[in-house]
Amino acid sequence: MPELNLILLGPPGSGKGTQGERLQEDFEYPYYATGDILRAAVKDGTEVGKAAKEFMDRGDLVPDEVIIGIIAERLQSGEADHGFILDGFPRTVPQAEALDAELLKLGRQLTAVILIDVDDDEIVNRLSGRRVCQEKGHVYHVEYSPPEKEGICDVDGSELYIRDDDKPEVVRHRLEQYHDKTSPLVDYYKKQGLLNTLDGADDPDRVSEKIRTLVSTLSLEEGR
Ligand code: AMP
Repeated sequence: MPELNLILLGPPGSGKGTQGERLQEDFEYPYYATGDILRAAVKDGTEVGKAAKEFMDRGDLVPDEVIIGIIAERLQSGEADHGFILDGFPRTVPQAEALDAELLKLGRQLTAVILIDVDDDEIVNRLSGRRVCQEKGHVYHVEYSPPEKEGICDVDGSELYIRDDDKPEVVRHRLEQYHDKTSPLVDYYKKQGLLNTLDGADDPDRVSEKIRTLVSTLSLEEGR
């Protein structure tokens, strides 16, 4: 399999998690979702979790050095030597620069950045109905993709909950953070010729299809 180093970029609730999971199933690259990694650290009560919790509860970004360390460790571990899918990282220009520097040290570079674009009103609508499973973080929506049995995960039977940071006032703040700190990455990657933009308002299956086509094309190009 050719090396593919991919980033999924987009506002909270744009469907990065859903698409990341599908990509991982299709292409078997390690998938690093920094939000999931941090939530697991909070649940386990680790030092990182303790440091991150208050930022996450407020809908603020955790400090760059905390999150950069987490990703650098995984890139250095060897498990991502054949490629990776990043979801939720980088979220600031310093994080993007740190990632570039880390890859350069390893003699590697990014293959592509996939921006899943969705407008703010749609995000608020989506996140207010989002439900997540306790066990593995499988994602549902009360209206658009409800579980078969209300409040219970179809995959592992665990209870569904509402993330603290999906409450409407926190969602607004997360969106402000996105526009302020993360959206400059759109230009950052455009300048590097890496940006591929998809309309995240499309049906998730349609978005998956477009991503699959894009990744297959990239694989062919890389394999040449
Ligand atoms: P997510 O599940 O991606 O929406 O992330 C949930 C929360 O985790 C965010 O609101 C931030 O507080 C924190 N977080 C996740 N990834 C990052 C990152 N790359 N930089 C800073 N904070 C992050």
